Amino acid sequence: MIKAALFDMDGVLYNSMPFHVRAWSEASDKYNLRYEPEDFYMYEGRTGDSTLDLLFNHTLGRDATEDEKRNIYREKVAIFDEINNGEVMPGATEVLQRAKACGLDTLVVTGSGQHTLIDKLNKDFPGCFLREKIVTAFDVQYGKPHPEPYLMGLEKAGVQAHEAVVIENAPLGVRSAVAAGIFTIAVNTGPLPDKVLLDEGAGLLFHDMHALAQGFASSIRKAAGGYSKLF
Ligand code: CA
Repeated sequence: MIKAALFDMDGVLYNSMPFHVRAWSEASDKYNLRYEPEDFYMYEGRTGDSTLDLLFNHTLGRDATEDEKRNIYREKVAIFDEINNGEVMPGATEVLQRAKACGLDTLVVTGSGQHTLIDKLNKDFPGCFLREKIVTAFDVQYGKPHPEPYLMGLEKAGVQAHEAVVIENAPLGVRSAVAAGIFTIAVNTGPLPDKVLLDEGAGLLFHDMHALAQGFASSIRKAAGGYSKLF
């Protein structure tokens, strides 16, 4: 029986990925770091340090120094804060209502480390996410794609892996959740091909949160039945 739904945040609850991508692109341009347009969707979920190591290796064949990481990441965050409009993902509220109607506990598992995040979640999704049921960058040692954030989500929910589902939009987020042994529903809200998410082990895939809301109850039944090639 499924008892909890663990929600990723950026690209699932908030329509924030286009702003993250623009912020990363502008910060990278300033430092002449090379990237492909879809790189930042492929890197989504990684820590800032890890993303910068990839960009530096791609451009200069070496990791970024600690100073470079601190300075460039600070700029990326400043750009993001300036342009982000905070839009809730269309359909997200509907999905949360369905989850509650199915009797599920709802949690957030994000790699984000904004200090205002908990207040913002409470304002935008009132009554959905208790403070002690939010996993952020401050709670974990390893970010996604390591399973740690989702394992901590299970612990905070007080459930086993087979009693939970994860809702994720990013390839590395799916990898993290699947590595934690949790049935993962991909919502492909970005530009990557579906195959990238399915290849990471997503058990089901929807193209937006409205579609997931429509298919939510049947998805939970499939998850409970172990509907996946992996388990
Ligand atoms: Ca995400």
